[in-house]
Amino acid sequence: MNPKDFSQFVQDAFQTDEFIPLHVPIFKGNEKKYLEETIDSTFVSSVGAFVDKFEEQITNFTKVKKSVAVASGTAGLHLSLKVVGVELEDEVLTQALSFVATANAITYCGAKPVFIDVDMDTMGLSPKHLKAFLDYFAEIRSDGTYNKQTNKRIGACVPMHTFGFMSRIDEIVTICDQWNIPVIEDAAEALGSLYKNKNAGSFGQMSAFSFNGNKIITSGGGGIVCTNDESLADKAKFLSTTAKDPHKWEYFHSELGFNYRMPNLNAALALAQLEMYPTILESKKQLFSAYKKYFEGTTSLVEPPKETTWNHWLMCVQLSNIEERNEFLSTTNAAGVMTRPIWKLLYKLPMYLHCQRDDQKNANLLEDRIVNIPSSARI
Ligand SMILES: *Cc1c(COP(=O)(O)O)cnc(C)c1O
Repeated sequence: MNPKDFSQFVQDAFQTDEFIPLHVPIFKGNEKKYLEETIDSTFVSSVGAFVDKFEEQITNFTKVKKSVAVASGTAGLHLSLKVVGVELEDEVLTQALSFVATANAITYCGAKPVFIDVDMDTMGLSPKHLKAFLDYFAEIRSDGTYNKQTNKRIGACVPMHTFGFMSRIDEIVTICDQWNIPVIEDAAEALGSLYKNKNAGSFGQMSAFSFNGNKIITSGGGGIVCTNDESLADKAKFLSTTAKDPHKWEYFHSELGFNYRMPNLNAALALAQLEMYPTILESKKQLFSAYKKYFEGTTSLVEPPKETTWNHWLMCVQLSNIEERNEFLSTTNAAGVMTRPIWKLLYKLPMYLHCQRDDQKNANLLEDRIVNIPSSARI
């Protein structure tokens, strides 16, 4: 592939010679109207009609029992881990090929991430590698499942749906069920994606979505946790509200809670964005079709694996090696077409150097080869 020619193609597709970012939000629906309504109502902060409405709409959208809007995707992951009972000194199985927030949320609990390799096609946690790890290291004891090597309890497993591509989530859940390990989906990037016709965020005991500015829809900043267990949802709501016991006037906090609620102002924006979801998706699908035509006859463009429906959040190419990757990055960025390599593997960051991990062969191959390309909706 010729990166210069590719840059020209992207400029033509976006009909501009100016800088083309990776992913920008678009506000062409009721965003201003709902924001103005919120300001007029004075309910701009952490309670209000838009929060309730947004939670209800996400519950319907992802086909779960209950949702709790929160301040960020990271806060959502942290709360989810707390709610399923992850404790100080626990270990949590996850993937090193992820955004740093996945491992940070685990660390906020005083727990330690253990990195399991990903599958090449999904770029998500590999059930095969997960099973191999558990078969070798895990042991079920009276008070939980333990890692025999470290003698630590395995508190949860957090697979992530990379760029909206679904991981093999039902296989992961089946394996974790056999080992009594709760699954929390890091669905930050996967709103609207499906695995075998079932929604991202509806497989795990808990799941977290993000509505940060770069995600498929945005609330400015924010997130939501979803679950099919109403008691877990209630617990998440409680912990996100400083663990305040309900009472007309007394301040009584029965445990250590957090201020993790989503403000009504952000929920207003989020609700308007959710209404725009079908329009955004349609436009992104058209862009992907254009890329497909451009890359026809090559294997560069990464396509969604079978049995999945992709939300088309971030599109990417897979190059042959790191040299080709680096040349692609420098040529496209110099031409004003923003491209970005996939994340540095988390076990290579200073905080996570000493975490246990398996061989990470696939993660390393993908780290050297995957580059995101401009993926914004064009409306
Ligand atoms: C964006 C993202 C998060 C964190 O979401 P924020 O809303 O930015 O806190 C977590 N995990 C992954 C994989 C993400 O892409």
